Amino acid sequence: MRKCSLSEINSVFAEISKSMTLYLPVDGSDGSSAFSQWTEGVKWSESLNTTKSPKDFFFPQTEDLMAFKTSGKNIELTDIRKESEDFVVFGVRACDVRSFDILDRVFLSEPCDSYYATRREHSVIISVACSHPSETCFCTSFGISPENPDGDISAWKTDTEVYFSPNTEKGALLMDKLSSVTEECSDEAVVKQKEEISKICSRLPNSKVDTNTFGGGKTAELFDSPLWDKLSEACLGCGTCTFVCPTCQCYDIKDFNTGNGVIRYRCWDSCMYSEFTKMAHGNNRLTQKERFRQRFMHKLVYFPENNDGIFGCVGCGRCLAKCPISMNIVKVMKKFGGEKSEK
Ligand code: SF4
Ligand code: SF4
Repeated sequence: MRKCSLSEINSVFAEISKSMTLYLPVDGSDGSSAFSQWTEGVKWSESLNTTKSPKDFFFPQTEDLMAFKTSGKNIELTDIRKESEDFVVFGVRACDVRSFDILDRVFLSEPCDSYYATRREHSVIISVACSHPSETCFCTSFGISPENPDGDISAWKTDTEVYFSPNTEKGALLMDKLSSVTEECSDEAVVKQKEEISKICSRLPNSKVDTNTFGGGKTAELFDSPLWDKLSEACLGCGTCTFVCPTCQCYDIKDFNTGNGVIRYRCWDSCMYSEFTKMAHGNNRLTQKERFRQRFMHKLVYFPENNDGIFGCVGCGRCLAKCPISMNIVKVMKKFGGEKSEK
């Protein structure tokens, strides 16, 4: 394990930036925070979760895929992708690190999405433990450890120091480069912080949210439940929950005629939208109740059914904070009985 003084963290950022582009959470003037590129003078945000998750690094909200021109029966294709340079994402929380595993299962399975794969290959993830988990957090319900986040390097921030421990070859290589701005240390402070985080998590309001009611094989039991009517009644279909979610991965592909050829691009879509998956014959899900049910059944039943039991939610709490009608996955889980009783 290595550490640097918190007051010297900019030396670490500067060292990383010598060879790779560095992104980290930065506070905005409106009180929100977002991942931004680090340059001298940019301050690492203290906030827990960025408003939008770091999935944009691998699956951007909009992305040009290719260009083409047609002439009679001929089509001329141009690969216009900008190959990624190596980059580091610092300050990723444990829930968001787990979201990359979920996205990997979607985008890296055959046929592999080469746009996504290239960015994953070029990235180094430095996670940071959540010393102050929020009331909206429930990542522990999905077996995630906010005190011990994954990533290429795990980091822990105390009031005076930042500690680093590599988990992968990529992480170890980067730590080697940081040897002049970090020093070898014991893990005593980290062990103490881990214990404190675990205690805080056990007292969080959503710490009792339980996944037992859900999982693969529960479609017949849950799909026709009358509970969906009431739960979905006030849903506006705004899609906010899907856009802030680190694991939502629906997208649309569209063509834009520039007047000098066509650009094919993709952009995020939302299963909460009435036009999502609309086809020539019409729409598969005609009501907001069906669309609402789809979002939660996908994360809590269909995804684990097809992915070794892994749920498609990481308990980041963003949808709890952002839904304009205060509906969210925790309320859905509790309504279906997904809450541990007090001991
Ligand atoms: S469903 Fe909500 S809590 Fe779960 S990962 Fe998405 S935004 Fe986070
Ligand atoms: S659940 Fe909330 S955030 Fe999601 S679409 Fe409905 S109203 Fe919007």
